[in-house]
Amino acid sequence: MQLAKRISDLGTETAFAVAAEAKAHAAKGHKVYPFHLGDMNIPTPENIVQATFKAVRDGKTGYCPNHGVAELRELLAEDINRSHGTHYRMENVCIQPGGKPVIGKFLLALMNPGDEVLYPSPGYPIYESLIEFFGGKAVPYSWSEGADRFELDPRRLADAVTQRTRLLVLNDMHNPTGADCSEGELADIAELARKHNLFVLCDEAYFAIRYAGKSLSLASFPGMEERCVILYTFSKKYAMTGWRLGAAIGPKPLIEVIAKLSLNDESCSNHFIQYGAIEALTNGDESARQIVRTLRERRDKAVELLRSIDGVKCFEPRTTFYLFPNVTEAMSKLGVEDYEAFRRRVLERTGVSFCTRTHFCRPLPGESEKYIRLAYSGVNVEDIEKGLAELKKFLG
Ligand code: PLP
Repeated sequence: MQLAKRISDLGTETAFAVAAEAKAHAAKGHKVYPFHLGDMNIPTPENIVQATFKAVRDGKTGYCPNHGVAELRELLAEDINRSHGTHYRMENVCIQPGGKPVIGKFLLALMNPGDEVLYPSPGYPIYESLIEFFGGKAVPYSWSEGADRFELDPRRLADAVTQRTRLLVLNDMHNPTGADCSEGELADIAELARKHNLFVLCDEAYFAIRYAGKSLSLASFPGMEERCVILYTFSKKYAMTGWRLGAAIGPKPLIEVIAKLSLNDESCSNHFIQYGAIEALTNGDESARQIVRTLRERRDKAVELLRSIDGVKCFEPRTTFYLFPNVTEAMSKLGVEDYEAFRRRVLERTGVSFCTRTHFCRPLPGESEKYIRLAYSGVNVEDIEKGLAELKKFLG
């Protein structure tokens, strides 16, 4: 078999490989603490489940329009307008099978081969993978360690812009660092986008997962609604990762292209679960708040325990369900330089499974500090206590 040449440019989400390794370790009878994947062990709220079953029984089992069910598009536009202060209508929304498909469709719609696209590294690995797969030039920018949070420096971002830069991928409320931008930083990024005529993918997968402060969107800034596509997802807000439902929200001509790509790709998103999503947007606020309360308890415990480990430095993020502790000292105390060796050794000795910086796009030249990423969305407080106690014992 001779595969197409382009396949060699396709990256992947290596966190899934870590998950498989952890599963194999567990199959040998070991206890595993699964901090590796941003999946959730919190059940989807019951009213959403019931509304979906009802839709199946009501016969919502055929194809639906490729843009999605009209009522859901309308509700989502209203919901986003309330939280973002935007002016979207149903025509600005295309329902998708998850938030992830918005990334590729945004790039296919706007990026020509050779165009430069700014993307975060560390960052969600699919950006780098798909920019390169579709023939673009992936230009990384970085979040750096400040006094009490990871910071995005808009001046450094501006330095990365060239004549060929067309697009910016912004994942404020950031996987893997848990960082979020200040209003001033977002205003500077908006200014940059307007000045250089950049279109922006606003990956807002974690917009609703917030413990302090207020989530802001780049799309809310003057002149930005016209040049942003919001990646929306039901996955995290309503604990629906496996349902695969999200949306692209943006300027109508772009949404039309995205809908056309959807038509070519999957015809439409799953029909009946869109009625579960209607229920989520209509009666799901309290469940969403409860999910955040559960995650906050986990965050507090995990941060407290990580901070008690010698050689580990950890910020307390205000958003997402990720921690990105600096383990430079812990690794050096152990005499391990290589990320994979460290990760495997910790898994084998403690059962604690996590990803490292290398799972979140190519490291930048000159990077010397070492980081791991822990997702606490799939580990309850009791196991956070047990797992991180094991980690402390081992690293101590
Ligand atoms: N964007 C970011 C930053 C993510 O971390 C994820 C999932 O982990 C997604 C997008 C995609 O989520 P989904 O496809 O489940 O909506």
